[in-house]
Amino acid sequence: MALHRPFLRSLVSLWLLSGLDPSVALAQPADELVITPVRKQAATPPAATGKKPSVLDAHGPKLVVVLVADQFRADTIARYRAMIGAGGLQRLSKGSTAIGHYGQQNTYTGPGHALIASGAYGYLNGITQNKWYNRVTRRSEAMMFDSTARVHGDKGGDADDETSPRNLVGTTVFDELRLRNRESKVVAVALKGRGALLLGGQLGSAYFFSEQSGVFTTTSYYGPDLPDWVKRWNSRKLADAAFGQKWERLLPATQYQGRDDGPSEGEVKGMGKTFPHPLTGGLHAPGPSFYEALTHSPVGLDLEIDFALAALMEEKLGQRGVPDVLAVSVSGTDLVGHVYGPTSHEYQDMVGRLDRGVAKLFSELDKRFAPGELLVLFTADHGAVPIPEDLAREQLQAGRIKKAAIKDVVQKALTERFGPGEWVVALEDPSIYLDEALVTQAKVDPQLVEEVAGKATLALPGMLGFVTRSQLLRGALPQTEAARAISRSYFPPRGGDVVLFTAPYYFWGKYGEKAVGSTHGSFYRYDTDVPVMMLGPQLLPGDHGVIEMVDVAATLSHLLGLTPPPGCEGRPVLRMLRPVYVP
Ligand SMILES: [Zn+2]
Repeated sequence: MALHRPFLRSLVSLWLLSGLDPSVALAQPADELVITPVRKQAATPPAATGKKPSVLDAHGPKLVVVLVADQFRADTIARYRAMIGAGGLQRLSKGSTAIGHYGQQNTYTGPGHALIASGAYGYLNGITQNKWYNRVTRRSEAMMFDSTARVHGDKGGDADDETSPRNLVGTTVFDELRLRNRESKVVAVALKGRGALLLGGQLGSAYFFSEQSGVFTTTSYYGPDLPDWVKRWNSRKLADAAFGQKWERLLPATQYQGRDDGPSEGEVKGMGKTFPHPLTGGLHAPGPSFYEALTHSPVGLDLEIDFALAALMEEKLGQRGVPDVLAVSVSGTDLVGHVYGPTSHEYQDMVGRLDRGVAKLFSELDKRFAPGELLVLFTADHGAVPIPEDLAREQLQAGRIKKAAIKDVVQKALTERFGPGEWVVALEDPSIYLDEALVTQAKVDPQLVEEVAGKATLALPGMLGFVTRSQLLRGALPQTEAARAISRSYFPPRGGDVVLFTAPYYFWGKYGEKAVGSTHGSFYRYDTDVPVMMLGPQLLPGDHGVIEMVDVAATLSHLLGLTPPPGCEGRPVLRMLRPVYVP
C-alpha cells in the first residue's frame, strides 16, 4: 500500500517545482461563465402588448428552499439511479443542473456549508476546518464552538459543542436577505449543528438534533428559549417512538450494488454491519446512544424532514408577502457514508430515503405554492473517497495515515534539529500546530522549523506534500490549482503551521484512526465535485456543465436582487437562467 518512494518524490517535486495542475482543465474560470450574446439570441420576444418585459417586472420567489445533502458526490444520482423515485431528485434533475466544483482543499461539512451560503472561500469566511487549535484557550475546539453561547437543553461546556455561527466571518446570502428586509425569515434545519448554524447564519435561525435528549434544539445565540411550536413538536417525542425499530431496506436487496457485508464497513451503537439494523443504541429505553443510532438511519432523516415541514407551516414561510428561506441540510447521508462507506448498501439506501424525503417536501410545497412561487436549490457540501481498504484490494495505492505516526516523525525531526520539547501541540486535519514558544526559542526563521516538520511527514506512505504557514502568509506558493485550493482554505488566525496534503485515496484525521469506513476533505475530484440542481421560473432547464461552488451564492443573490455577501468570489451563472429583457 505504500507509495513507491522515487515515484512519490518525483510527484512532490513536480508539484512543487513545475506547476502540476490537476484540475484546471475541468474548472472553468468564473469570467467565462457570463455568456451575454447567447442570452440575447435566446431571449423571449416582447409581449403582444408591445411592452417589453423588464427585469423590474420579475417577481421574486415567495420561498427559497435550500437542500444540502451532506456527503453526496456528483456521480451519486447516476450511479444509484435504481434508488431514485419520481417526485424528488428526478424532479430536481429536470431543472437547471450543473456539477459544482469546490475550489478549496478543506472539503468538510463546515467549510462546505459556509461556502455555499457565503460564496466566500475559507480564507475569507474563516470556516476552514471542522476543528481547530485555539492558541488563546490552548485547546482544540469545534469550529462552531462559541464560549458565549450554549445549546438549549444540553449540559454544555464541551469545546466540541457547536454553539453558534459567530466564527463565520461576513454574511451569507440569507443574512443579506434579512438585512434587506427584516420581515423575511430564514429557518435552517439539520441533524448536525454546523449544517444548521452555517445555513441559518448570523441573522436567521437554526435548529438541529440533540443526541443528548432526542429532540430538535437551537442555541442561546439565537434567543433565550425555543419557540413554542418547537416545544410542541418536541413534546410528541417522535424519536422515542422509533425505539426498537429496525432499519430495513427501502427496496428489494437485488436493487443494491455490491455486497452488504463489506469487510471494511464499520458499525455504530449496536446497529451491526448488515441489514436489518436494530435501533436501540444497545439500551433498554431511549437515551443518547439510541439517539446517535437514529441519526445514522432513515429515522433521523425522516425526523428532519418532518421538522422542516413543521417549520414551514408554523412559521408560515413564504405566505406572508415577503420572501422567506427554508434550508435543510440532510446529515444522514454523511453519517452513514462515514461508517459504512459511500458505496455501501446503507449509503445507497440513504440516497433512496433522501429522495423520498425530498419528494415528501415537494408534495407539501405543491399544496401551498403555485408554480413559479418557489426557488429551489439542491446541492451538497462535499463528496467522499471510497473506503481505502476496498481500493487497496483492487491493487490501487490507498490507505489511512495515523495521527500518531505524523506526530512521531515531526517530533523526532524537530527534536534532532532544534532540541527537545513537545513540539506538536495539535493535529487537526489538514493542519499541524506547533508550540509557538519552542519555535521562538529555536531562534531561527519559523519557516525553517515548519519546513523541517513538513518534510518529515513525507516519509509516511501516502503523504504527498505540504505547504507552510510562512509560505501561505508570504504568498510564496506554486501557481497550481492545488496550491490555490490550499491557500483558499487557509484562514491565518485559525490555521496551523504546516498544512499537509495526501496522495489520492489516502487520508488522515478522525477517520484515519479507524480501520473501517471512509471520509472526505481533499482537493481531489471525488471530494470537490457535487450536484447543483435548481428549480424556479427564472431557471433554464438543462445540463450546464461545471460551475464553481462560489457561483451558487452569487446566483442566488442575483435571483433575489441582492448584493452578494461581502466575501463572495463567485459570479451569477447566467447560462443557467432564462433570458430577460432589460429595456
Ligand atoms: Zn459534510
